[in-house]
Amino acid sequence: MKKLCCGIVLLAICIIKPVCAQDEYTRKADSIIAIMTLEEKIGQLNLPAAGDITTGQAASANIAEKIKAGQVGGLFNLKSAEKIRDVQRVAVEESRLKIPLLFGMDVIHGYESVFPIPLGMASSWDMELIEKSARIAAIEASADGINWTFSPMTDISRDPRWGRVSEGNGEDPYLGSQIAKAMVNGYQGDDLSAPNTIMACVKHFALYGAPEAGRDYHTVDMSRHRMYNEYFPPYQAAIDAGVGTVMTAFNEVDGIPASANKWLMTEVLRNQWGFDGFVVTDYTAINEMIDHGIGDLKEVSARALQAGVEMDMVGEGFLTTLPQSLEEGRITQKQIDDACRLILVAKYRLGLFDNPYQYADPERSKKDVYSNENRKVAREIASQTFVLLKNDDQILPLKKQGKIALVGPLGDNKENMTGTWSVAARVDEAISLREGLQNAIGNKAEIVYARGANVVADPALEARISIFGKNTHRDDRPAADMINEALEIAKDADVIIAAMGEAAEMSGEASSMTDITLPENQRDLLKALLKTGKPVIMVLFTGRPLALQWEEDHMPAILNVWFAGSEAGDAIADVLFGDINPSGKLTATFPRNVGQIPIYYNHKNTGRPLSEGEWFQKFRSNYLDVPNTPLYPFGYGLSYTTFEYGDIKLSHTELQGDQTLKASIELKNTGTYDGAEVVQLYIRDVVASVTRPVKELKGFQKINLQAGESRTVTFEITPNDLMFYDYDLEHVWEPGAFEIMIGGNSEELKTGKVDWKK
Ligand code: BGC
Repeated sequence: MKKLCCGIVLLAICIIKPVCAQDEYTRKADSIIAIMTLEEKIGQLNLPAAGDITTGQAASANIAEKIKAGQVGGLFNLKSAEKIRDVQRVAVEESRLKIPLLFGMDVIHGYESVFPIPLGMASSWDMELIEKSARIAAIEASADGINWTFSPMTDISRDPRWGRVSEGNGEDPYLGSQIAKAMVNGYQGDDLSAPNTIMACVKHFALYGAPEAGRDYHTVDMSRHRMYNEYFPPYQAAIDAGVGTVMTAFNEVDGIPASANKWLMTEVLRNQWGFDGFVVTDYTAINEMIDHGIGDLKEVSARALQAGVEMDMVGEGFLTTLPQSLEEGRITQKQIDDACRLILVAKYRLGLFDNPYQYADPERSKKDVYSNENRKVAREIASQTFVLLKNDDQILPLKKQGKIALVGPLGDNKENMTGTWSVAARVDEAISLREGLQNAIGNKAEIVYARGANVVADPALEARISIFGKNTHRDDRPAADMINEALEIAKDADVIIAAMGEAAEMSGEASSMTDITLPENQRDLLKALLKTGKPVIMVLFTGRPLALQWEEDHMPAILNVWFAGSEAGDAIADVLFGDINPSGKLTATFPRNVGQIPIYYNHKNTGRPLSEGEWFQKFRSNYLDVPNTPLYPFGYGLSYTTFEYGDIKLSHTELQGDQTLKASIELKNTGTYDGAEVVQLYIRDVVASVTRPVKELKGFQKINLQAGESRTVTFEITPNDLMFYDYDLEHVWEPGAFEIMIGGNSEELKTGKVDWKK
C-alpha cells in the first residue's frame, strides 16, 4: 500500500488519502503494540464511565489508578474542558506509554444547545439542517473535550410502545439512511483530526428497535430477509459514510445476544460492509449476556472478543477475564492485538497522539458552547420539525391579540423541553412555552396560565418519569380543583392553548408504555375546556407516536411539537402565531389504537387484502373494530397553506436496463401562505421473486412555494432505486411492472405505471 501511495497520480491522491492515512496509522499503532504489555493492550479495550452522568448500574472504582496503570482506553460522561484536561494529563503524563484517552458522551441531539429529539429532527425531512445540527453539536462538545459521540442511533422501529422511538428516525429505511449519512457527516466533517470534529458511533447494532411487545431490551427475532431489506440499511449507510465506531445492541439476534454475535459483527459488518473502525458494546452489554444465559463473565467476555467486539463499555469483563482466557487458549493474542490496534488507530485518526488536549479548549468552550448563534439555529431547526396534525377551519395561526389562556402540565415547564437523552443540556434554562408565548406577544396581547392537570394522575408513575433533572413539578391538589382553576382563568379568554402530552422521560431508554393514549386526567381537562365553547388548540408534547383517536375526533387543532430543545418555547410560538408555517411530516405512523401495532406504511400485501375503499370485509385481512389504516400515516403533516398535486407524468412507460425514468408532478400552493411541502416518491415492485412492500419511499424533495406559486417537481429513477435483497440475500433488481407514486404523504398519492425490462 505504501508503494501505491507514492506511485499514484496526483489526481487520485485526495481520493485515496484516507486509505493511506489509515495504513500509516496502522503501522504506528503496531509499533506501539510491539512494546505494550498484555495488561496495557487489554486496558485499551476498557471504557469505564466517569461520574457525572450514569445510566446503568456499574461504575469502575479507582479510575485514576487504572489510567496510570494503562488499564483504560477511554472514558465517558465526563463534562467540562477542565476536568477532561486533568484526566487526559494523567493518561499522557503518568501512564507508562502515555497513550491519550478517548472521551465519549451521549451527544444525541445537541450538546448544551439542544435540538429537537431525533424523531422530531427526522420530521423536518431536511438533511442540510440535520447535518448542521450534528455539526454544531460536534463544535460544542469538542470544545469541552468530547471527541466521541454515541450517535447516530439508526434503529428502525415500528413500535411506538418502545420508548426509544424518540431517539431514532422513524420507520423508514430509506429516510433513515439519508439521516444516518447526514449525522455522520455533521459530526465527523471532512477531517476527523480537526479539533472541532468528533468521532460518531452508529448504534445499536443490530435491530434494537424491534423488541417483542415494545419492551426495552427484549428479544428480537426476525428473518434475515427482513433484516437486510428493512432494518439494516441505515446502519450500512452510516458505515458507507465512514462512521468511526459501531455500538452493539442489548438484544439478541437469532438466539445470540448482539454483543456475542459473530455473524453480525464479523460477517455482516466487516466482511460484507467493509467496516474498518472499532466496535464498542452498549453499557455493560457483555456482563448482561450472563443473564441472557450464555455463560459466566469469562465465557461471555471471550465470546464478545471472538465475535468482533473491540471495546467493553463499563462492565470490565475484558479487563478482568481476558488474561485468563488467553492463558487457557480460549482466545488468541492476535484477537487482542487486532482489537487494540483498531482503538489506537481511532486515536490517531482523531489527532490525539499529536495533541491529546486539542479537544478540550476552555477558551473555545466559553465562546462556542451554548452561544447565541447556536441557540438561534436550534430555534430555527425546531420550528421545522413540528407536525400540524389537524387544523379545522384554519383556526391556526393565532393572532397576537386579545387574551390567550395557556393551560396544561407542559405549558410552564422548562426542564422537560429538551426531551430525553439531553445529558449536557441546561435544562433549567430551556425556554418554556409560556415564556415563548410571552416573548412573542410582548404587550400586544395578554397571556393567562393555569396548570389544569398533572402529566399523569398516578403519583407513582409520575415519580418514575420525573427524573434526570426533568422535574414535572407535580401539583398535589385534587384534579377537580386544577380543572376549575383552568376554567376560571379561561373564562374571558379568546382562545385556549392546551399544552398536553408526555413528559420528556416518558420516552427514551427503559421507558416503554403499553398505553399510548393521552393520560385520562389530561383528557378530562380537555373535555372541560372544550365545553367552554372556546377554540382549544392542542400543543402536543411527545417522544413517540401516540394513539390520538379521541383528540382527532374532538380537538379542532393539534400541533405536534415533540420535545423541541433549548429554544422550544420560542420556536413553538413562531409557529403558533404564523411567523413560521409548519412543514414537518411524520416519519413514524400514528396508530388509531395500540392493538394495531406494529403498523407501518411499507407493509406487505396479504393474499386477502381489502378491496379499495373498504375497511371491513369478512374473510379479508382486517379487524372487526377498527380500519387497517392508521390515524395519521407516514409522511403526513399539514401546513397553514394548501398544496395541490397535478397528475404524475412519466418520461417512459417502458424502459430497459440502465435507463433513467423521470417522474414529474405539478405542485401548486393553492392557499394564502407561503410554505414548504415535502414531496414524496414511492415505488411498488408489483411482481417479484419474493413478496415486496405495497410501497417504499425512494425519494423526497422539500419544496418552498409562495402563495399561488406552482412548480414541476421531478424525480429521476434508475434501477438502483429498484434494488432489494432476494431470497438468497443477493442485492438485485428484477424486471417487470412497477408503480410510481408521488404525493404529500404515504396515503394520498398519484400513481403511474411502468414496465422495466432487463
Ligand atoms: C444506551 C446507549 C448509550 C449508553 C451510554 C446505554 O444505556 O443504550 O444508547 O450510548 O448507555 O450512555
